[in-house]
Amino acid sequence: MRILFIGPPGAGKGTQAARVADRLGIPHISTGEMFRHHVSTGTELGRLVDSIMKAGEYVPDEITVEMLRERLNEPDAGVGYILDGFPRTEGQVAALDGLIGEDGLDTVLVFEVDEEALEERLLSRGRADDTEDTIRNRFKVYQEQTAPLLDVYGNRGIVVTVDGLGEIEEVTERTLKALGR
Ligand code: ADP
Repeated sequence: MRILFIGPPGAGKGTQAARVADRLGIPHISTGEMFRHHVSTGTELGRLVDSIMKAGEYVPDEITVEMLRERLNEPDAGVGYILDGFPRTEGQVAALDGLIGEDGLDTVLVFEVDEEALEERLLSRGRADDTEDTIRNRFKVYQEQTAPLLDVYGNRGIVVTVDGLGEIEEVTERTLKALGR
């Protein structure tokens, strides 16, 4: 089972991806978390992406795709996975198609939350890239580069939307239901 979680910053997809992956017994693969791990452990890649993330920009596709390609080759990914935050550009969609085929994803789950709630959540979270200026830019970049993916996957008939507002547990149940679980 290969699932993609997609949604604007603050939609809660990371939290839900971790919980749902746990329930389904498949790995949760978050490119954002992988990058944050590189930053916190001070790798060369971490030093490279730190300022990009703090500016709310996307890491260049070639870097992100290579990191993801290696991750999908890990043995635990053989049973399937939840992808969280990748792909988020059309170039990354093409790269993923190349890796797992155009019919490689079973479901694309889109988290919908209104923008006011999103900003509130992000400001209360306090991550390094959750300052007001960065948040504004991340929304803009999401609208420009990631929102178009909803049509790309919509045309493939694999998109399901989930209302991301509510208690964490409630949203998890909603998500599992949307996945037919
Ligand atoms: P959010 O969904 O709240 O933006 P993430 O943890 O998914 O949080 O991502 C944090 C940051 O990591 C992004 O703003 C971006 O800088 C970088 N990043 C994560 N995934 C990707 C990706 N697929 N392509 C490019 N940059 C990425």
